[in-house]
Amino acid sequence: MAQAHRVLIIGGGFGGLAAAQQLRRAPVEVTLLDRVNYHLFQPLLYQVATGALSPANIAAPLRHVLKNQKNTKVLLGEAVHIDAANRRVILRDGSLDYDTLVVATGASHQYFGHDEWEQYAPGLKTIEDATDMRRRILLAFETAERETDPEKLRALMTFVIVGGGPTGAELAGTLGEIANDTLRHDFRNIDPSKAHIILVEGTDRVLPTYPQVLSAAAKKMLERLGVTVRTGAMVTGISQGVVTIREGERTETIPTRTILWAAGVLASPLGRVLKDEAGANLDRVGRVMVEPDLTIAGHPEIFVIGDLANFSHQTGKPLPGVAQPAIQQGHYVGRAIQARLRGEKIKPFRYFDKGNLATIGRAAAVADMNWIRLSGLPAWLIWIFIHLLYIVQFQNRLLVLVQWAWLYITYDRSARLITGKNPFPLDL
Ligand SMILES: Cc1cc2nc3c(=O)[nH]c(=O)nc-3n(C[C@H](O)[C@H](O)[C@H](O)COP(=O)(O)OP(=O)(O)OC[C@H]3O[C@@H](n4cnc5c(N)ncnc54)[C@H](O)[C@@H]3O)c2cc1C
Repeated sequence: MAQAHRVLIIGGGFGGLAAAQQLRRAPVEVTLLDRVNYHLFQPLLYQVATGALSPANIAAPLRHVLKNQKNTKVLLGEAVHIDAANRRVILRDGSLDYDTLVVATGASHQYFGHDEWEQYAPGLKTIEDATDMRRRILLAFETAERETDPEKLRALMTFVIVGGGPTGAELAGTLGEIANDTLRHDFRNIDPSKAHIILVEGTDRVLPTYPQVLSAAAKKMLERLGVTVRTGAMVTGISQGVVTIREGERTETIPTRTILWAAGVLASPLGRVLKDEAGANLDRVGRVMVEPDLTIAGHPEIFVIGDLANFSHQTGKPLPGVAQPAIQQGHYVGRAIQARLRGEKIKPFRYFDKGNLATIGRAAAVADMNWIRLSGLPAWLIWIFIHLLYIVQFQNRLLVLVQWAWLYITYDRSARLITGKNPFPLDL
């Protein structure tokens, strides 16, 4: 019997999982490879970083998600190289052959040539990043409770968030809520509501990709939560306990013990591998310039989707690095593979923009639905509905809903756990 067409998908994020699920009834042999054994709902990572949700609430084991899909196997492994000439993906510990390859390995943050900043200003991409952020935030308050030196105390109670996009705004707003509400009665020596939360953004407004009116609404909501918004401010230095920012001609150093990074995008290193091995063109941040059908020029058997792809054929600009393009591209690729096997042609990919949402805090969000722009409570309700809809497992949907209801009523963040290595002696 002839061997079934082998589709290898690297990455079980939004794009890769959508592609695999689209192929569920196809006469192909699907392998979904990921270096972690779960699909992660990244839009809610900041809620893990701020103690509202536990890691398991926002992650679903890939093996479980695809357990009823008989034509699909899930493998745990890390792809390190692609031998395009021989249609083979090299893993850290083995190799896999394919007939069609779908690369959906996403993107991460970057430090604009200052990788040394990472140790002081962690970014948010993985569950480990989120629990590390949570640890830093909670340890700052714990250490402040024991600190007597006023200068050190001020640095401990100062939180700087770099990047005023959706993730930065979410982190800053939530920190405002933690300081003003959640921790309000928990300490005896410090008043958490006196925390200084500073959001630093290089452009002239927060949420710069949103319409002006929503940026202004977001700024107001952040300020109501006690966040100081510094726009037009560039971070020029980060070292132990200090952030340096430049606003026009003025340079300022801010002593702080907690710096959170929410800026910069850098595509997965497999983009560079595709450049070297398959002649792919990359953009400034390492994304692969794809053809209208999401393949690489000269390699119709290699699709690249999601955050790793630069698809500029629709508007002349790359699609935004958010979940919707990745999901829609995943579905498209699943359909394209089946159409090809039937010998049919498929139309170029078209993105249907359903709108953008960002949340600032309790009953505070902005929604740009293209036909209507909303802020405050209505936007927040839409945000809740959409996020619950897209969380992969029903069980997680239910758990998250219960946690949110509890948080709404009590302001309590029950996942406020300091985990990881022994923190003693506290850095007083
Ligand atoms: C903190 C944060 C908040 C966000 N908030 C929102 C939001 O509110 N709304 C929204 O729409 N979007 C949001 N996004 C963006 C959204 O999550 C991404 O656009 C989306 O995840 C991209 O999907 P993807 O499939 O391209 O990559 P990902 O979902 O990142 O998946 C990539 C997968 O590839 C795996 N992988 C990577 N390299 C390898 C390798 N070498 N070998 C094997 N496996 C590998 C990874 O483990 C991962 O599972 C947010 C992102 C972050 C980080």
